[in-house]
Amino acid sequence: MRIANVNGRLKLLVAGGSVDVATASAGRFGFDPQAAYEHFDELRRWAATISEPSEEFGQEMAGPPVPAPRQVFAVGLNYLDHAAESGFAVPEVPLVFTKYVSSFSGAVSQVELPVGSVDWEVEVVAVIGKTARSVPTEQAWDHVAGLTVGQDLSERDLQRSGPAPQFGLAKSFPGFSPMGPAVVSLDEIEEPADLMLGCDINGEVMQKGRTSDMIFPIPELISYLSRVVTLYPGDIIYTGTPPGVGMGRTPPRYLHSGDHLHSWVGGLGELRQRFVDAPMALV
Ligand code: ZN
Repeated sequence: MRIANVNGRLKLLVAGGSVDVATASAGRFGFDPQAAYEHFDELRRWAATISEPSEEFGQEMAGPPVPAPRQVFAVGLNYLDHAAESGFAVPEVPLVFTKYVSSFSGAVSQVELPVGSVDWEVEVVAVIGKTARSVPTEQAWDHVAGLTVGQDLSERDLQRSGPAPQFGLAKSFPGFSPMGPAVVSLDEIEEPADLMLGCDINGEVMQKGRTSDMIFPIPELISYLSRVVTLYPGDIIYTGTPPGVGMGRTPPRYLHSGDHLHSWVGGLGELRQRFVDAPMALV
């Protein structure tokens, strides 16, 4: 099952288009995309009976497929070569921070660049499907509804200001968390633990990696997080980025007005962001 958010309404993607879930289910399921994760298995069983599209769908129509999670987790330095390019030791436990919901956007967007050094981080985003509390690693996938593509855009100057790195704000300017275009349920993903992912700027490849190179794979992240906090259906985890970010280049490279960033995860979909200077940057 692939589900998306179009203008705040939950859509089921089928070959050739989409179906409005609330309309097609005669109200059995609501219109709110976030509520889909509260009864994900039931929705998936219903979706298996639907194959005819009733509406058009294009990725440029897609808002964030998980628009208002109760909790947003993000993991830093979760690929060996990315930890090295960032100048940090390999973490012994996951490095966890958050991204604020006000930074969410859909799959295709225009992002205003704040003053500073804006960098790219393509990531797989895991969506929780069942409440998780102290879950063993071997049962962790059972608590995942599906996966989607995410960009963890990051303003490095703010991130590095102050006595210790501060990720949450620096990664939460408006439009800094594009995701989508759809959440793909796990049963549709052949090998969820080994997905190719990457991004390019104006056609030039910047990042390319595979999720099997994660230091803490998704089940370990869920197990670790759930020993501290309770994970709720619809919570999301940005799972970290492979090497190739701008900060790690010599000389460093950052996003500029007019750049097109294309991010992808094999089998899940792609994101397209175009960058423009924020009006304030012109002053
Ligand atoms: Zn990241």
